[in-house]
Amino acid sequence: MIRERAYPVEPWHVRETRLDMDVLAQSESVFALSNGHVGLRGNLDEGEPHGLPGTYLNSFYELRPLPYAEAGYGFPESGQTIVNVTNGKLLRLLVDDEPLDVRYGELLSHERVLDLRAGTLHRELHWRSPAGREVKVRSTRLVSFTQRSVAAISYEVEAVDGPLRLIVQSELVANESLPAQSKDPRVAAVLESPLQAEEELTTPDGGQLIHRTKVSGLRVAAAMEHEVHGPDRTTIESEGYQDWVRTTIACVLKPGEKLRVIKYLTYGWSSRRSLPALRDQVGAALAGARLDGWDGLHREQRNYLDEFWDASDVLVEGDPEVQQAVRFGLFHVLQAGARAEQRPISAKGLTGPGYDGHAFWDTEMFVLPVLTYTQPSAVRSALQWRYSTLDSAKERAETLNLRGAAFPWRTIEGPESSGYWPAGTAAFHIAADIADAMRRYVMVTGDTQLEREIGLELLVETARLWRSIGHHDRHGQFHIDGVTGPDEYTAVKNDNVYTNLMAQRNLLTAAEVVMRYRDEAYHLGVTDEEAASWRDAAMSMHVPYDEELDVHQQVEGFTRLQEWDFTHTPAEKYPLLLHYPYFELYRKQVVKQADLVLAMHWRGDAFTPEQKVRNFLYYERRTVRDSSLSACTQAVLAAEVGHPELAHTYLREAALMDLHDLNENTRDGVHMASLAGAWLALVGGFGGLRDHDGELSFAPRLSSRLNRLEFSLQWRGLALRVDVRPHQTTYSLRHGGPDDVVELRHHDQLLRVTCDEPVTVPVPPAEPSGPPPEQPPGRSPLLRLPEPEQ
Ligand code: BGC
Repeated sequence: MIRERAYPVEPWHVRETRLDMDVLAQSESVFALSNGHVGLRGNLDEGEPHGLPGTYLNSFYELRPLPYAEAGYGFPESGQTIVNVTNGKLLRLLVDDEPLDVRYGELLSHERVLDLRAGTLHRELHWRSPAGREVKVRSTRLVSFTQRSVAAISYEVEAVDGPLRLIVQSELVANESLPAQSKDPRVAAVLESPLQAEEELTTPDGGQLIHRTKVSGLRVAAAMEHEVHGPDRTTIESEGYQDWVRTTIACVLKPGEKLRVIKYLTYGWSSRRSLPALRDQVGAALAGARLDGWDGLHREQRNYLDEFWDASDVLVEGDPEVQQAVRFGLFHVLQAGARAEQRPISAKGLTGPGYDGHAFWDTEMFVLPVLTYTQPSAVRSALQWRYSTLDSAKERAETLNLRGAAFPWRTIEGPESSGYWPAGTAAFHIAADIADAMRRYVMVTGDTQLEREIGLELLVETARLWRSIGHHDRHGQFHIDGVTGPDEYTAVKNDNVYTNLMAQRNLLTAAEVVMRYRDEAYHLGVTDEEAASWRDAAMSMHVPYDEELDVHQQVEGFTRLQEWDFTHTPAEKYPLLLHYPYFELYRKQVVKQADLVLAMHWRGDAFTPEQKVRNFLYYERRTVRDSSLSACTQAVLAAEVGHPELAHTYLREAALMDLHDLNENTRDGVHMASLAGAWLALVGGFGGLRDHDGELSFAPRLSSRLNRLEFSLQWRGLALRVDVRPHQTTYSLRHGGPDDVVELRHHDQLLRVTCDEPVTVPVPPAEPSGPPPEQPPGRSPLLRLPEPEQ
């Protein structure tokens, strides 16, 4: 875990004031830069020491066999694993005779700053070599939001004493060796030298490497070029061989003199394009980068982010740590999705190899709801990516003797990459999650073109899946049996409430959308009878309820299962999945992550307020939060059922997941769902945002520590701003015309907000909240509330 306050609390920066070798890998994830296309971990410029070197390209993967001790029908045979591609971040420095390596000599100061408005990682260090020579290094790195295949580094060395002989070796290196794999299933498989050399090329001020993966047959090209500003007689030359290209810059600096190297780095990859085509592509991208130059790239980055923050910033007064963390989270969510362009947004973005670089339902249920309201163009392309995998999902359904589309639990390009059935394929709810992301996107943006082009088919094929997995019993009730809901400690069970309610919405939305696009639906083979059968299934969906305890059953029979013995489960046995057999977890009342509680968030319209209160208490006592996807949802519901202080502690857990490395695995990449979850906890929890049935509604109410929460949402092309104070909320419209209006619900009141003037309304007093919720012993929220402001 990163010690509390490892990064000082600042509103727009994440600053590391000294280099802590014990958390190097964690900080590499925190400081990773990405635009959704290219991702660079925050490795030190000189490459060593490192925790985990990492350079990723979205969807650049290798295939590896998924071996089974006992094979079974329908088990996927191979899995996709993200590849650490050619490292272009490297800039090694020789100071007289000594390589700059922070483990040797004296590190007089070292600071790294992730600037959330500039979109850069800045580093400053002051180093004295073992021989007593001193240099100051300032480097700034960016991965461009405006030119998706471009990254750039400005690297400046100043001689403190001298004269000094300096040699900068700027490199491209393929097939770096990676640390050995651990037994934790959440880390990635390690691939030994996954790249085969195809071509290396050097020019005096740079070079290129082209490689290909052995099995997946993907080709990657990386290129670099340098601009050098140094004293007279500075030399530059390049050489290369198969897995490396090196540009060497040499000079002598007098005290106070500087050498500045600007490194432009570009990547291109393809499964189809020829080697010459890729060679040209990276060359052209370099030309584009040089055209703008460092200053131009820097400026464009800033402008892009200014626009993003203007439309999406969240202001939090009363908890500066959360203020910093929610911006950090939004920044990473943007980095994961901004330029993904019809490629997946994975659970770790492009910040680390965790989960093999796979995308899960995390995308549709955690990341996309945030981007839908803040950067809808990224959602459009994320949905297009899912659509591009539809054929593979249809094939999978066929293999499983089902109709429609069975989307993979984890994948990069479409095929199921999960080798574990109960917490993989059986988690069919991902189909309804995708359908819901589509529904929400169309509702919020009004983009009916996308709905017609891809939404309809996604909805139809997912509805078909539900109709074929489920069945009507002899009383007519519709059941979905033998599936796994979000809680992976309760697997392959009947009638998971979350799955059933999400499938219900999926079926109803599909039935409604086929009425709007009758011709297109006809071409997909949809008949009136089929649509009617979806409606029937939805209307008679079984939702298990325990009449005696007066709570919903997460799955049929859940409330009569044996209770987990929490009192005798020591702290070191968590996460339970690493210490207990699944057999034991599956047959007891122990919940890994919000499941029924998640159903109460996204299908809150299917529960009464009283049921929500009782259900929350019941499941809170059994939820261990062994997944980082839980705290944010518990925050949303705690706020709704009248426990704002508990909501606040869960918000802190979700928001600070990576800045404090709370789950002790940030080294493998940041937890994108949890970072998005910080926004959900604030906007869905304290702002009370819900969007059931096309209605935009808010039920704002702050925790006692917060004085203000202000956020902006995009709604049908308009920018709605919501400013929540302890006793009142103001809704206003920005950038709209005189006829623009947003209709919304504030608690029980209907409001019309126009550009003319903001609408300010009181926040009604809270209802009595009932007994305080309890968590299993030792599983209360991980962080305390901030000190109250005096
Ligand atoms: C969670 C899943 C999640 C996956 C990737 C697992 O631990 O239980 O819900 O999709 O992590 O984040």
